[in-house]
Amino acid sequence: MKVFLGEKHSFLEEVEARSGQKVQECYQCSKCSGGCPFSRVMDYAPNSILEMIVYGMKDQLLSSKAIQMCIQCGTCGAQCPAGFELYEVMNVLREMAKEEGYKTNEKKIPKMNSIFLGEVRNLGRMHEVNLMVKNMFSQGQLVKDVATLIPIGPPMFLKGIMGVGDMLSHKIQGQAHVAKIFENVEKMQGGHAK
Ligand code: SF4
Ligand code: SF4
Repeated sequence: MKVFLGEKHSFLEEVEARSGQKVQECYQCSKCSGGCPFSRVMDYAPNSILEMIVYGMKDQLLSSKAIQMCIQCGTCGAQCPAGFELYEVMNVLREMAKEEGYKTNEKKIPKMNSIFLGEVRNLGRMHEVNLMVKNMFSQGQLVKDVATLIPIGPPMFLKGIMGVGDMLSHKIQGQAHVAKIFENVEKMQGGHAK
């Protein structure tokens, strides 16, 4: 799918350069969308996203729900006859949306991503309980989430799946190195690593 776009080329060029994927070489066969476990909850199917990049539909894409819903599972790439790694493109689109201050239709996932990265930065690892509690507060749905957890939490303790130790968070030995990685990425991206 090669088209001439003249001056509107910059979005396509930037996505291709940052993702390392030749967006224009997609066949538009839709195998990626057929295999994607999240395409049914996306506002644009994965193959359509590639087409929209080619046609310079930057505003629609960077404010879309689809780029936030991608879980980077790579299923699309495993099914693609062109060996295309679509998750790399999704990742770049998400970064660009953040860098350029786009408001997305999907609010909850960016918040959770931010909490997740904050945990990894502060502890050097992810701590599930911290993530869950912080996410509950930040999403403003504490009562609903606690009600969901009541039938799940106590049985997990009773069966030994979770213990008191799992509730406490601690830093890993190399936490300072992990934090340094975040700092370096922030510098490279102009302050947008988190
Ligand atoms: S499976 Fe590959 S070639 Fe087919 S539409 Fe998706 S990215 Fe393009
Ligand atoms: S990497 Fe993203 S787009 Fe690809 S199959 Fe997984 S969720 Fe879908």
